Amino acid sequence: MSEKYDVLIVGAGPAGSTLAYLLSVKNSYKVAIFDTRSWEDLWGKPCGNAIGAHHFKELGIPSPAGDEIKQVVKGISIYSPSERVVFTVYGEGYIIDRNKLGNRLMRDAVNRGVEFYPRTHVLRPLLENGKVVGIEVENVEGKKEYRANVVVDATGTAGVLKRGLPKDWPVSEPLDPRDSDVAFREIVELDYEVPNKDIIRIYLNQQVAPGGYWWFFPEGTNKANIGLGVQGGMGYPSPMSIYMSKLMNRPEISRRKRVLSSAGASVPTRRPIDSLVWNGFIVIGDAAFTVNPVHGGGMGYAMIAAYWASKGIERAHEIGNFSASELWEVNTGYMRMIGAKQASLELTRIFLQNLSDRDLEFIMEKRVVSEEDVDILGRKGELREGSIERATRIVDDFFKVLKMSSRPSLLLKLRALQSFMNRMKSLYLNYPTSPTGLRAWQESLKELRKEFSEELSLGR
Ligand SMILES: Cc1cc2nc3c(=O)[nH]c(=O)nc-3n(C[C@H](O)[C@H](O)[C@H](O)COP(=O)(O)OP(=O)(O)OC[C@H]3O[C@@H](n4cnc5c(N)ncnc54)[C@H](O)[C@@H]3O)c2cc1C
Repeated sequence: MSEKYDVLIVGAGPAGSTLAYLLSVKNSYKVAIFDTRSWEDLWGKPCGNAIGAHHFKELGIPSPAGDEIKQVVKGISIYSPSERVVFTVYGEGYIIDRNKLGNRLMRDAVNRGVEFYPRTHVLRPLLENGKVVGIEVENVEGKKEYRANVVVDATGTAGVLKRGLPKDWPVSEPLDPRDSDVAFREIVELDYEVPNKDIIRIYLNQQVAPGGYWWFFPEGTNKANIGLGVQGGMGYPSPMSIYMSKLMNRPEISRRKRVLSSAGASVPTRRPIDSLVWNGFIVIGDAAFTVNPVHGGGMGYAMIAAYWASKGIERAHEIGNFSASELWEVNTGYMRMIGAKQASLELTRIFLQNLSDRDLEFIMEKRVVSEEDVDILGRKGELREGSIERATRIVDDFFKVLKMSSRPSLLLKLRALQSFMNRMKSLYLNYPTSPTGLRAWQESLKELRKEFSEELSLGR
C-alpha cells in the first residue's frame, strides 16, 4: 500500500528542511519529509557552521536568533602561507547552532502541516514511464512506499535517490572526488579568551591543507570550531591526521580544555549539477553540488536551491504537469541567482589548488589581488580587470628595477583566469530555457572547461 503526496522530500538538512519550510508557508501542498536522523540530531553533518546573514534576507527566511546563534560574525581574515599578510573582508554573518536552526525550520513546517518522518531510511526512488513517482522507505515499522507528483533528493553527498536514476538523466551525474573537499573539524573549549571573536579566520597553506585551507572560527568567548579540508581524490593524508600532526601544536589550538565535538565529512567544490530537475524529480543541496567551490560553504547555497525548488514546484502544481520542462525554472532561477557565480568560482578553486605557497604569498604580498578584489570575488564571483592590469604593471616595474626575472607566467595565468571566469559566468547566465537546449549547452561547457585546462596547463 502506498500513500499519495504532492511533494516528498528526502533529507532534512539545510536543503530539505528549508524546502519543507518554504512549501509550508504556501500551506497548499501535502508534503512529507524523511530523514534517518532524529529531531535531536537534525542538521547533524559536521560543519564550520558559518553562514552569511544576507541569505536569510534574500530568501525571506527568518534570520537566526537567540540561541540559534553561537557567534555573530563581522568579517573574515584570510592569512597568507607565512601568515605575514592578512586580508580582512567585512560582512555580516553568523556561526549558527545547526541543530537549533534546523529544529526551528522543521517545527514551523510541521506546525503548518508538513509530515516529518525522522529515523526513516529512504531506500530508493520509484520509477514509472520515464519519471520518478515515489520512494521506498524503511523504518522500525518495516518497508513502505510513498507516491508524489514531485520527489526531492536532499540527501547531501550521499545523493541516495539520484544514484538510483538512469545514467542518461543529467540529474544522476556523479561527483568526481577531485571536485570535493574532505574535511575534519573539532569544536573545542579553550582556556583563554579568543581575541576578535567576531572575525572568522582562514589560513591558506598548501603544506598544511593541500588543495584546501584550515580554519579557526570563534564560537563565543572561549570556544572555537577549528578544522581543515584537503582536496579529495588526490591521495593526500587524511585531514584528521594532518590536524593532529600539524595543527595541534599551535598555541591557539593546543590550549584547549575540552573537545566538545570531533568529526569529519566531505563537501562538493564544483559547479552545480548540469540540471537540478528531471521528470517528477528535483535534486538540491550537496546532492546537487550547490556549494561555494572556493570555501566549501554550502548551507546558504542549499537554501537558494531549496528556494528555487519551491518556485518550480509551485509552477508545476499550477499547471498540473511535473515534467522536466515544467520544473525547469528551478534550473534557470538557480543558475541566474548563484550558479553562474558558482561555476566561475570553480575555476578560481582549480587555479588556487595549482598554486604553490610561494605563489600565494606573492599574490597577497604584492597585492596582485587586493582585499577589495577578494571582497568582490566573494560577492560576485568576478576578478576585477583593472586591478590585475595595475598589479601586473607595478610588479613588472618592480622587477625591472631589481633586474630580476618577474613571475610573468603567474600573472599571465591570472589574467587568463579572469577572462575564463567571465566567459564561464556568461555561459551560465545563458543557461538553456528548456531541456531541449541542454545538450548543446553541455557541449559548450565541456569545450570551455577543456580550453581552460589547456591554456592554464592544469591537466584537467
Ligand atoms: C567539515 C565541514 C565544514 C563545513 N563548513 C561549512 C560552513 O562553515 N558553512 C557552510 O555554509 N557550509 C559548510 N560546510 C558544508 C555544509 O555542511 C553542507 O553544504 C550542507 O550541510 C549541505 O546541506 P544538505 O541539506 O544538502 O546536506 P546535509 O546537511 O548532508 O543533509 C542531508 C540529510 O539527508 C539525510 N539522509 C541521507 N541519506 C538518507 C537516506 N537514505 N534516507 C533518509 N535521509 C537521508 C541525512 O541524514 C542528512 O540529514 C561544511 C562541510 C564540512 C564537511
